[in-house]
Amino acid sequence: TVSVALFTSDLRLHDNPVLYSAVRGADQVVPLFVDDDGVRAAGFDAPNRRAFLADCLADLDAGLRARGGHLVVRSGDVVEQVCALATSVGADRVHLAGGVSGYAARREGRLRAELERTGRTLSVHDTVVTALAPGAVTPAGSDHYAVFTPYFRRWAEAGVRDRVAAPRKVSVPEVAPGSLPRRADVGGVSPGVMEGGETAGRRRLRRWLAGGIAGYEDGHDDLAGDATSRLSPFLHFGALSAAELVHLARHKGSPGAQAFVRQLAWRDFHHQVLAARPESAHEDYRPRGDRWRDDEREIAAWREGRTGYPLVDAAMRQLTHEGWMHNRGRMLVASFLTKTLYADWRIGARHFLDLLVDGDVANNQLNWQWVAGTGTDTRPNRVLNPVVQGKRFDPHGSYVSRWVPELAGLERKFLHEPWKLKAADRAGLDYPDPVVDLAEGRARFERARGA
Ligand code: FAD
Repeated sequence: TVSVALFTSDLRLHDNPVLYSAVRGADQVVPLFVDDDGVRAAGFDAPNRRAFLADCLADLDAGLRARGGHLVVRSGDVVEQVCALATSVGADRVHLAGGVSGYAARREGRLRAELERTGRTLSVHDTVVTALAPGAVTPAGSDHYAVFTPYFRRWAEAGVRDRVAAPRKVSVPEVAPGSLPRRADVGGVSPGVMEGGETAGRRRLRRWLAGGIAGYEDGHDDLAGDATSRLSPFLHFGALSAAELVHLARHKGSPGAQAFVRQLAWRDFHHQVLAARPESAHEDYRPRGDRWRDDEREIAAWREGRTGYPLVDAAMRQLTHEGWMHNRGRMLVASFLTKTLYADWRIGARHFLDLLVDGDVANNQLNWQWVAGTGTDTRPNRVLNPVVQGKRFDPHGSYVSRWVPELAGLERKFLHEPWKLKAADRAGLDYPDPVVDLAEGRARFERARGA
């Protein structure tokens, strides 16, 4: 017998129920990745992620080769490609990770219908992408949790599935491998995009468990300390397994490890919201009657990191340079765009998706909605102040100095408020005036929301 293991958001050998079940259930397996036209058409094909994806696929192929097999790559419509391949190798079953987006649901539906039409079976595994399956815990009277704290309570009580081993051998039938995309062929990649792939991810994970995680509870908000795991891109592509991370962190048990597990639960939380409400990728989860201003000049300043607010600009420049941003930065710049500038969260979410190497429809869209107050935040009208946030989370101004070097030489007390410099000193700075007055921005937003 032959099965197809269709890789999507699970580009890994370790703890991958899709690959594990395919290998156990058949004599031979086709480990398949389809460079899917549908993903491109949906606007998810950004250079930074494509570069990281190329690393992941190369690494996956190398891992499969070490086990006697190889990756098979096709491009085009995913359903057509899978069915054509299943027919040509005589596969009777296709294994797939359950996804949470509207696109993933449509893909799964089409694939199931086409396979069943030709007498084949689709096996969907629902704890591949998230630690807990979306919908595994629900509140009375609803199909999903809209508030994190009660979700987290139930999430923590529910057991995460046991890990599955990486296969030792993968026997692939005679089939053309197709060509792997190469990172070197991807244009427009941010210079600081980290190396992708399961091997790089496991290396980073080992270092994280041995060192960083212990200090996570205290250090995670320290912008300059950069004391978070930076595992998000590996989780996004499934080069690391969320379930495995929960097991490993729980085993550590320290307060830092517990705080880290809580963040992984946030990831599951947003995934279960999106699975239940796929339209919330584009539409307000909780409409607030907003009439966004969408001032083009202000939005351009935000995108380019020249709003005149050093912490906002530092974070936006980190995004441009690395395709990644610290969570504290993400919250601040999202609050600044949607509340202080009162621009539509979709504009910011789009810009993030164009650049983030971990750019993820569930985490990105729903975190944007959370900050904009159109999502699941129980305090939807709070506004973050970049000066207050700067003094608190970048007290020495080191993060600002790193990303906004034109301010690096300033006395510390001016680093987050360069407009307070004497006019003569200010004139010598190649740095813009604030694009908007913070108090005015806040008042305008609060009026609009009736807050
Ligand atoms: P760590 O602090 O080490 O946390 C560990 C893991 O927990 C992360 O890798 C991530 O998978 C998960 N996690 C942490 N915080 C969150 C959160 N708030 N929501 C969901 N999962 C979380 N995360 C993405 O993975 N993709 C996105 O596209 C994305 N867009 C965001 C947009 C906005 C406006 C905001 C406020 C947050 C966004 N996040 C997104 C969540 C969070 O900022 C990142 O997951 C985190 O900064 C990644 O860094 P890390 O791996 O070092 O995180």
